Amino acid sequence: MARGADIGTEMPKALREAVQRLMETGGFEGTFTLARTPGGGVDYFLSTKEEGAPELLPLHPVMPNHAGRLLREMTLGGAMRGKVLVITRPCELRGFVEIVKRLQGCLDNLVFLSVVCGGVFPLSMVSAGWDGKRTEEYWAYPDGRPVQGLRPACQGCTEFIPYTADLVVAPSANGHWALTAGSEEGGRLIERAFPSAPAAEMDPKALEAMAVARKAGREEVLSHEADVKGLSDLVKVFGRCIGCHACSKACPICYCTLCTFESSRMEDRMEQSKGQLEVKGGIRAPAGTVLFHIGRMGHMAVSCVACGCCQDVCPVGIPVSLLFKKVGEAVQARFEYVPGRDVKEALPINTFQPMEFKEVGE
Ligand code: SF4
Ligand code: SF4
Ligand code: SF4
Repeated sequence: MARGADIGTEMPKALREAVQRLMETGGFEGTFTLARTPGGGVDYFLSTKEEGAPELLPLHPVMPNHAGRLLREMTLGGAMRGKVLVITRPCELRGFVEIVKRLQGCLDNLVFLSVVCGGVFPLSMVSAGWDGKRTEEYWAYPDGRPVQGLRPACQGCTEFIPYTADLVVAPSANGHWALTAGSEEGGRLIERAFPSAPAAEMDPKALEAMAVARKAGREEVLSHEADVKGLSDLVKVFGRCIGCHACSKACPICYCTLCTFESSRMEDRMEQSKGQLEVKGGIRAPAGTVLFHIGRMGHMAVSCVACGCCQDVCPVGIPVSLLFKKVGEAVQARFEYVPGRDVKEALPINTFQPMEFKEVGE
């Protein structure tokens, strides 16, 4: 595979310039990346030409929407007809791969650029006004120092290296950043865009330092914010839920256009509750707030990529993503499955292995 290229130390400027070069030399018809919105915010844009395009902010450290969820809608809707450079975080790419496995998205024409991920900040920090100095401090993370104020999901994220990206931005030696190839196509793109840049590769020491910090972060966030031991604890935590369903709308994996929990079956539930009203003297409205989470866990624990989007949008501060991460990790470990690791790896829920779970019974 081709060598990586040294893109320097001045992030995020160096990254913007690298993207520019890739666009000029890579035969792309568009790019899908974070960009500045007219109101000064940040969101994803698909841009096909420079003129009139918004200011691109590739890998800006926020996740206003999960890119995998957006790509699901855009690829099914046929928006990606030409070759597009898609710039996302590893958990966004993994979420998209999971949804492609469910035939709800398409990888055709997409070339992915991702990053050895330093995490993202909560959306509340963005709405409170973005301090430019924070971006500078953020990109100083190759030494493995934990960045303060990240989303809880990112503080405990141990899957921060993108598995299937064609191009990977990674910490290199001496505080430099490298653009490395994750596929043959990535290698060709680097050769064309950086014919004379000094060679560079990922620094294993920086990766190790990040892995150690994240492992410790994982223990901490899970023990503090998701210390849930059984169903009764789950019922207690989700007892605060107001049933807005923002968490499922933000999730890349929840794709049902007609969610059971928003269908007329739930209206019937209210009807059925009349009996309970007579017995108990009171019923909660909306109904089924806890059942919604238990049902959602059952549907998607095997594919939860622990991105943190659900938690970021919860108006009542429920640690949704940490709880899903905890349950998801346990389920995924039983199947030795890492969601989004490989698009060719079958979904465990779609495959039957005669010898698995023998302890449950023949
Ligand atoms: S969850 Fe992991 S991959 Fe996703 S943004 Fe946070 S650190 Fe990056
Ligand atoms: S449940 Fe939450 S953490 Fe898991 S994939 Fe969905 S949005 Fe991300
Ligand atoms: S976003 Fe929060 S309040 Fe709304 S349904 Fe999800 S857990 Fe409940």
